[in-house]
Amino acid sequence: MNQTIKKRVRDSTPTSLRNFRRLVIGLINLSRADKHKCNLCGYEGRFWPFGNPPRRGATCGGCGSQERHRLIGLWLAANPELVEGAKILHFAPEATLVHSLSAYSSCYRTADLDPNVADTVLDIEQIDLPSDSVDVVVCSHVLEHVDDAKALREIRRILTRGGRALLMFPIVEGWDRSYENEDITSPADRAKHFGQDDHVRMFGRDVRQRITDASLDLTEFTAEEPDVSQYGLTRGEKVFVAVKP
Ligand SMILES: [Zn+2]
Repeated sequence: MNQTIKKRVRDSTPTSLRNFRRLVIGLINLSRADKHKCNLCGYEGRFWPFGNPPRRGATCGGCGSQERHRLIGLWLAANPELVEGAKILHFAPEATLVHSLSAYSSCYRTADLDPNVADTVLDIEQIDLPSDSVDVVVCSHVLEHVDDAKALREIRRILTRGGRALLMFPIVEGWDRSYENEDITSPADRAKHFGQDDHVRMFGRDVRQRITDASLDLTEFTAEEPDVSQYGLTRGEKVFVAVKP
């Protein structure tokens, strides 16, 4: 069959059937769980899809950790001298990281606006803690929900000199500037524009400037090979490590 006829045959398939076929193929691909090792719980085996849209091999079959949790775990393992015995404050605590972080220090505590999920109720835009009182802040996938300028100023204030914040957030590295739009307020529009119904922006590359504007120094810890393949990380994902000089 030549290409022209093939194309005509394909095009004659009803759109609904073609879409259904694509859906089935997509689900079959997703169901092929990838095998990785989890640096947080030690599990080795199948990792499962997670997210909307689903990401293949995202979730550890042992502890349920996702890629970003394992990346923070790798940073912690690479920098134990910075966290052992440190005063650690973990905003919006991810259950899969709590065990790892608490193992590093008895001065570890969690914080959230919801008292049911954390040790302490704290508003990251107005943190009710003394200045210079925390050595390590862990703040993953929080800044895209809040006024990031206020939050970063507050994080800097509570950090001890030389203390650091581990910051993660969704970012579009292809964009020079973060995308904010005050007309986008409904959950449906926020999901469409910012990727989730309670996000208020999508960061671009200028997030680095936004961090240093808060008088924090910045280094980046990037998911690279062979860690990506071994531990099931997102290629190029970063932990932004902001240090109070
Ligand atoms: Zn695990």
